[in-house]
Amino acid sequence: MRELTVDLGERSYPIYIGEGLLSEASSYFQRHGISKRSPLMIITNDEIAAHYLAPLQTELEAGGYRVHSAIIPAGENSKSLDMLGELVGEALEAGLDRKSAIVALGGGVVGDLAGFVAASYMRGIKFVQLPTTILAHDSSVGGKVAVNHPLAKNIIGAFHQPEFVLYDLYTLQTLPLREVKAGLSEVVKHGLIWDAEFVDWCEKHANDLLALSPDALGYALHKGCGVKAVVVSQDETEQGLRAILNLGHTIGHALEAVAGYNELLHGEAISIGMVGSARLAMKFGAPSQVYEQTKRTLAKLGLPVVLPEKYDVDKVMSAMMHDKKFAEGTMVFVLPTAIGKVEIRRDIPVDWVREVLEQLKL
Ligand code: NAD
Ligand code: MG
Repeated sequence: MRELTVDLGERSYPIYIGEGLLSEASSYFQRHGISKRSPLMIITNDEIAAHYLAPLQTELEAGGYRVHSAIIPAGENSKSLDMLGELVGEALEAGLDRKSAIVALGGGVVGDLAGFVAASYMRGIKFVQLPTTILAHDSSVGGKVAVNHPLAKNIIGAFHQPEFVLYDLYTLQTLPLREVKAGLSEVVKHGLIWDAEFVDWCEKHANDLLALSPDALGYALHKGCGVKAVVVSQDETEQGLRAILNLGHTIGHALEAVAGYNELLHGEAISIGMVGSARLAMKFGAPSQVYEQTKRTLAKLGLPVVLPEKYDVDKVMSAMMHDKKFAEGTMVFVLPTAIGKVEIRRDIPVDWVREVLEQLKL
């Protein structure tokens, strides 16, 4: 079992990563002062519930907890105000009070939604994260919780830190391969912004990761969560440093918008985005090895590293202009200056970006 701490003063919390942790969940709940007198509500989705809900519920009940579970439909559409309203209704009917906790069993969709339920129910109750995707190493750490509005993603939300994060590596065994790869894209991102040795490790162990070796996954998630935790503890509410977590996201978000959100997974879009940023960085003098290693590592993990021909560069450009990271006529990018190191530049000529997108098609 691996453990690390997100250091946020009074709101600090641990992340536990290991095999079979859900089968001893109640001891973690107890250790972290989750009340047995007030009911808990587990929020999960239908796909995850089929594998993991019954054993978890049984385990918690055997430990003396009163457990209500709410099952939402899988998919991003569940991150909505309507669903928030429904879950608040369920929480009231189940008798959740100020001492209760909301438990997120799932990936980023469940985590963001459940976290926002916890942040808003009775002005905020306790929250526990039980991540079941690789992407969730990112979403379960840092306390950003939200639902979507038809006009914008993640626009209704809060900062609400969990009591603890319990990451059971066994749950990843049932994750579809495409979701595995997409999650690994953010893992590599955490290396690229902070830890060169870890990027080397990812390149070397790409096959172990894709084969879901618990050892490799445990190490990679520990490293990935560790970078996220350090960045978040230095900038909890995104005043500055936290922006480096957006490496690959300027191009990535634009690609998601152009492709339609169901065609490219987020991790796939930012994989192409990270290769693009490394290419752009070369124009500011970054060594070509940075670009080459970025591309090689992501490709070894089965991620896309070229811009598919069908995406129109003009459309991607205009999607980028609408993105919030395009401020007052200057394009803002997180650019790698070396492997493991990035800088935020606000002076990117629009033409250079266009050129890079053209080059990304080759
Ligand atoms: P997801 O939660 O939709 O999960 C992906 C798919 O895998 C779903 O179909 C899900 O049902 C299935 N699944 C999950 N765990 C499984 C398992 N163990 N076995 C089998 N199937 C499983 O997607 P995600 O990629 O985990 O998260 C994406 C969301 O995270 C987005 O809404 C994004 O906005 C959010 N996010 C939030 C933050 C943050 O800081 N809060 C950061 C990054 C992403
Ligand atoms: Mg992301």
